[in-house]
Amino acid sequence: MSKALRIVVPVKRVIDYAVKVRVNPSKTDVDRNVKHSMNPFDEIAVEEAVRIKERLPSTEIIAVSCGSAKSQETLRTALAMGADTAIHVEVADDSKLQPLAVAKLLKAIAEEQKPDVIILGKQAIDDDSNQTGQMLAGLLNWPQATFASKVEISDTLAKVTREVDGGLETISSKLPVIITTDLRLNEPRYASLPNIMKAKKKKLTKSSPEQLKVDIAPRLETLKVEEPPKRQGGKKVESVDDLIDKLKNEAKVL
Ligand code: AMP
Repeated sequence: MSKALRIVVPVKRVIDYAVKVRVNPSKTDVDRNVKHSMNPFDEIAVEEAVRIKERLPSTEIIAVSCGSAKSQETLRTALAMGADTAIHVEVADDSKLQPLAVAKLLKAIAEEQKPDVIILGKQAIDDDSNQTGQMLAGLLNWPQATFASKVEISDTLAKVTREVDGGLETISSKLPVIITTDLRLNEPRYASLPNIMKAKKKKLTKSSPEQLKVDIAPRLETLKVEEPPKRQGGKKVESVDDLIDKLKNEAKVL
């Protein structure tokens, strides 16, 4: 690798994957007053960037998070995992921040930082949008390799294996490129205590939509948020005839 590689990794603070998500009483959103952590697919993205840096030590990893002041905790986690610097794009109400707005903010960051690779999660587990990486590639007019299960970066090329229906597809792209991570790409490391301490001293820069000249007004309005219907308890049947009778006369599906 002749020149130092620059990798931007966007990381989102989301409701922790282990929390049982509940709808708020006014049915306008989910209850966000619960434990949050880094979006799991973004942990995979940070891990992949760190593994590339382990192979190519001159690599610089820049973690970026758009959201409220609390997103800085997520950035510190990325720094403790091995990112070099972080950028916090402060947005007052992150529940109103939609993928297109994030993609526009990340485009502005990419124009400033001039990365060779941007590795995003394939989707955020809160909005399940699966849009930001694709829209960012469109806005930047860069090639994209989505749902990566293997990534190899050389001087000017990225070779990415993607999980597709019934097999694997391997594609090659010139840099700069957008990559989004699938679940099987790697197993993210836990940040060690010394690295958590070191991360506190790493550089975290603040930015804002105004500074980046991006309009983040939402384009979509949430009309209603509902819990899935409660499951009815099961019933045991005595015989096949009994089952057929119940399917015909009770469930009325036959
Ligand atoms: P989504 O399109 O919302 O499913 O998110 C896909 C990916 O975009 C995430 O895994 C992150 O890498 C990135 N992303 C989404 N929202 C944000 C955010 N607010 N800050 C930083 N990165 C984000």
